[in-house]
Amino acid sequence: MFDVIIIGKGPAGISASLYTIRANLKTLIIGMNDSALYKTDKIENYYGFSEPISGYYLLKQGENQAVRLGGEIIHDEVIEIKKSDKFEITTAKGKFYSKAVLMATGQKQKRINIQNLKELEGNGVSYCSTCDGFFYNDLKVGVLGFKDYAVHEAVELLAFTKDITIYTNGFEPEFSQGFIDESKKFNINKKPVARLEGKDFLQRIVFEDGSRENIDGLFVAYESASSTDFARKLGVLTQDSSILVNSDMQTNIEGMFAAGDCIGGFKQIATAVGQGALAGRKVIEYVRNMKNAF
Ligand SMILES: Cc1cc2nc3c(=O)[nH]c(=O)nc-3n(C[C@H](O)[C@H](O)[C@H](O)COP(=O)(O)OP(=O)(O)OC[C@H]3O[C@@H](n4cnc5c(N)ncnc54)[C@H](O)[C@@H]3O)c2cc1C
Repeated sequence: MFDVIIIGKGPAGISASLYTIRANLKTLIIGMNDSALYKTDKIENYYGFSEPISGYYLLKQGENQAVRLGGEIIHDEVIEIKKSDKFEITTAKGKFYSKAVLMATGQKQKRINIQNLKELEGNGVSYCSTCDGFFYNDLKVGVLGFKDYAVHEAVELLAFTKDITIYTNGFEPEFSQGFIDESKKFNINKKPVARLEGKDFLQRIVFEDGSRENIDGLFVAYESASSTDFARKLGVLTQDSSILVNSDMQTNIEGMFAAGDCIGGFKQIATAVGQGALAGRKVIEYVRNMKNAF
């Protein structure tokens, strides 16, 4: 059991970890190599560097710093967060448990250029299998996505129906080893999707080649799970795709904190680092108070 699991190894997550690790909190950082900074070749507005540096360099330095201090970083995708008396974090590689969680997942824009997707949200198009799966008992549903998160959502939907297709929208599936076997339980349709049709409610998917399939519900699980995907399932309050936190960087879910681009505002490295530091400090207080309570 970890004291804290930090999701995201960008400036916010790593900055928070520097505090939690040095306060002797058992800290696990989980992230992928897709920080907003990853491909930025010139940063010249971050304190302390007289010459421009690349995003990759800054991220690597941060990771090395956390590891040097004793932090544990794993390169993995988080696909689910559950909360009971502790947090359960599911990734492609396994499950991890912690007393507190810090979401530092950034705010990557998912571009899904499918006509009528937005218009049919809440009317056959859903972003949350846990919230809406129940409405599709024994019906034909689809999951839109091509990574582990899509397979995970399809597996969740098996509790309600067996008629499930994963629509990759023209992408080759990028399922990791742990999800390849699971994906065999589902039909996989790789055709690019042109549009969704349905008068008041989703009725069919129309593909770019002109073919079509009738469908009752479509669950969007595109690319990796984002902070808003996690938020929907856990009941975390959001506003305009940003996680809402109080002045202690805490969400409305006890023990769950958030920092950096995922909470919106002035999206810059300096802001993410500052918020990460504050969140780290607040996580330390939270975990120590928990320990004192027993
Ligand atoms: C092109 C570009 C150029 C920029 N240039 C500058 C600049 O010059 N100066 C400046 O100050 N700011 C710049 N920014 C903004 C800056 O990059 C962000 O403000 C900063 O990176 C935010 O840090 P963060 O830690 O909140 O999120 P990010 O750096 O985006 O990190 C998010 C982390 O969360 C992880 N993650 C997300 N979802 C999951 C999941 N499901 N499972 C596991 N891990 C997950 C990601 O893998 C990543 O490690 C730029 C942004 C862009 C896009």
